[in-house]
Formats: sequence, structure tokens, C-alpha cells
Amino acid sequence: MRALRSRLSRSNSAIGKSLLALLSSGNLSEEDWEDVEDTLLAADLGIEPTTELVDSLRARVAVDPTTDPEIAKDWLYADMLELVDPSMDRGLAASRVDGRPACILVVGVNGTGKTTTVGKLARVLVANDRDVVLGAADTFRAAAADQLETWGARVGVPVVRSDRDGADPAAVAYDAVRHGAEMEADCVVVDTAGRLHNKVGLMDELGKIKRVIEKQQPIDEVLLVIDATTGQNGLTQAKVFAEAVEVTGVVLTKLDGTAKGGIVVQVQRQLGVPVKLVGLGEGADDLAPFVPEAFVDAIVG
Ligand code: GDP
Repeated sequence: MRALRSRLSRSNSAIGKSLLALLSSGNLSEEDWEDVEDTLLAADLGIEPTTELVDSLRARVAVDPTTDPEIAKDWLYADMLELVDPSMDRGLAASRVDGRPACILVVGVNGTGKTTTVGKLARVLVANDRDVVLGAADTFRAAAADQLETWGARVGVPVVRSDRDGADPAAVAYDAVRHGAEMEADCVVVDTAGRLHNKVGLMDELGKIKRVIEKQQPIDEVLLVIDATTGQNGLTQAKVFAEAVEVTGVVLTKLDGTAKGGIVVQVQRQLGVPVKLVGLGEGADDLAPFVPEAFVDAIVG
């Protein structure tokens, strides 16, 4: 939790600080409130949530214009926390169930950090004493299987892949799940391709992977990877995946390089699924569970 807070604080402008400065300066003018709004919008919180937050804060400050700025900051914290919704279930299904491994499918647009996330996730699971198998079902991007194999060697987990570029991703996913069952693994994590040039093609491919895995066992978790730096555009693209498969959680990557952490709120609102994990860098230890309190603390400052 401390890691998430300190890593995010470095890149997120502490909204609370500018609010504190504004409130300390006395009565807030219309322009000052616009500044508060701009700060929240700059963090990619989205128009609707920003308006809700500012309206609520304004209404309360209006009752007592001499409100202690620290108290107003606490209100902002509480309202923001509510927006992030701490009640959502952010647990990850990564343990054996019904005598079989858990299966996690990882989907998302190419370049968002899918393969890296699979590697980092394997590292977290191994650190938690789980036996893990990785499936390199991104057979479209030539280097993806090699990249995953490097991660496998680094983390010490087997990687099931095809020797052929362009092999059937569903066949690789099938083999990975079968291998996981044979070695009585705790969890099989399957990387997939994220070509977006053709929505129907993508849906067909993901649908086929899903069907083929489900011939053997249920899929317990579908994680959608979204690059936090791509804002609403990235979110719009990500929605195509959510239409193709039933997503159970989001991994928001590259939060280390952006002050746009507010995108969490938009992701959850527009997709209706919780952000479960966040990527905070390119290294093996740079994946963290998403903790709403730590996150809001980092943003409000
Ligand atoms: P994929 O095409 O979705 O599988 O994407 P990759 O896993 O190959 O990642 C694309 C690039 O993003 C690589 O250079 C990764 O090192 C980088 N990347 C992935 N996750 C993060 C993250 O959380 N933070 C940063 N800064 N870079 C990341």
C-alpha cells in the first residue's frame, strides 16, 4: 500500500495541495472553482465525476465559507474514495478450484503492456507460492512468445508456446490449460493478441480461445489491460474487448509515467468492472494490487 502511494505521488500532482492553497486564500471565486475543476480534469477524472465532486464540495463550502481547508480536503478525499468504490471485489481468482488450476485470460490492445503484465503477474503468484503455467497465445506478434519465454525464465515458470509464428492462438491456449492440469498447477495465465484492425476478427479470435479453453475447464478471470496514458481514446478501444469477452477486472498499466490516475474512475464507470491491479513500471516487481484508499490518498495528496 505504501509502495502504491509513494510511486503514484511522484507522478500525480497532489490535487489536495492546490485545493488547500486555494481554500487557504479565503473566499473562492468562480475562477478558483474552475481551477479546481481543471486540476481534476487534468488528472483524467472525466467531466461527469469532476462536476459531481466540485458541486458537492462547493455546496458544503458555501454553507460555511470559513471552512478549515483541511476539512474541505477530507471531504474531497471521502467523495473521491466513493467514486473509486472501495466496496468492489478486487480479489484475483488465482488458486486451484474444484481440483483444477484457476485460469486467467489476459486481453487488451497491443502495446498496452499485456505480455509484461503476464510476466509480472507470474512473479507475484510465484512469490505467493503458486505453481504457474503461462500460455503464449499472442501468436500474431512475432516477438510476443519470445518475450513471454524470457519472463518465464526470469520468474521460473513454464511457458507453453507454438514453434510457428501465426499458429492458432486457441490451440496454444488449449495446450497451456492442459499442461496446467497435468502438472497440477495452481494457475494458468494466458496471454492473447490485441489486434484491433478488425473488430469481428478480434471477437472471433477471443471467442474461439474462450470456447476452446472452456471445453476443458471454466475461465475464472478475464483481465483487461489498459494503458493509463492513453486516456479516453484507450478506454474506447478497450471497450471492444469488453464486448467480446466478459471482463472480470482491469489492469491499469503505466501509471508510473502519468499524472492521469483519475482514469481509474472512468474505467470503472464505463466498463462496470473493478481495477484490480496497476502497473507501476517495466520491472518484474512493478505490479501492485489496486488499493482505493492508497490511490485516493496519492491523488488528493
Ligand atoms: P503488449 O503488446 O500489450 O503485450 O505490450 P508489452 O507487454 O510488450 O508492453 C509494451 C511496452 O510497455 C513495453 O516497453 C513495456 O516494458 C511497457 N510497459 C508495460 N507495463 C508498463 C508499466 O506499468 N509502466 C511502464 N512505464 N511501462 C510499461
